Amino acid sequence: VSSKSQEKFKTIREIFDLPDDSPIIVAGPCAVENIEYLEKIARFLRDKNIRFIRAGAYKPRTSPYDFQGMREDGLKILHDVAKEYQLYTITEVVDTRDVELVSKYVDVLQIGARNMQNFELLKEAGRSTRPVLLKRGISATIQELMCAAEYVVVNGNRNVILCERGIRTFETKTRNTLDISAVPIIKKETGLPIIVDLSHSLGRKDIIKSIACAVLAAEADGIMVEVHPYPELALSDSKQQLNLEEFDDLLSSINRNVNVL
Ligand code: PEP
Ligand code: MN
Repeated sequence: VSSKSQEKFKTIREIFDLPDDSPIIVAGPCAVENIEYLEKIARFLRDKNIRFIRAGAYKPRTSPYDFQGMREDGLKILHDVAKEYQLYTITEVVDTRDVELVSKYVDVLQIGARNMQNFELLKEAGRSTRPVLLKRGISATIQELMCAAEYVVVNGNRNVILCERGIRTFETKTRNTLDISAVPIIKKETGLPIIVDLSHSLGRKDIIKSIACAVLAAEADGIMVEVHPYPELALSDSKQQLNLEEFDDLLSSINRNVNVL
């Protein structure tokens, strides 16, 4: 990435004008389901001084019979709640035709694993003025992820944040295999910021604390975690979403360990 340009990429702190360079935390439900749930989470994030809320409005589901997301109604809820609690918003865009609409409502366009090599979507995101969170494809190599980022950059958008979210291997104990070495390799070879999505890589909550610390020790710029006030009622990814108490526990663990690192 950026082999043709000498200019350095902005850090996440620079993109959003954040007061300090501590690792960023992106948290929120898998999907927007209603305003009450999102407000509960937003209030919690605000209390903890977390700046980024995530929530899907267009959900790329494996089965067409599963909940597909609230679409524009979901974007509106996300926008309004985030405004009330002064949070930056991240949501996935799955179609070139929606980039403009999604950009009207949210701060960061997420391109999900299933669309990492949707080149027309990458080009459209490149023409957007919104920062892009680009997730690693389910079976994508690090090189392919870097090439996908290059699509966004050469089309005019240098504010790209990469996201390692695990890849498919023969291992079945986790939902995907987290490739932690992607973090220092991406940083070294591209200079782009990179965060790690703990929820979609692990698919389980019981080991999330130790992996969060490992990821931050590897100098990831941040983490993404799915959080839901009532995970057992969630319409998607119910098993991997933390409730607020579990999330609080994760935050304490990170705070204890980050000071040591
Ligand atoms: C998500 O973050 O909502 C998501 C669907 O993740 P991924 O694209 O990594 O599977
Ligand atoms: Mn999810």
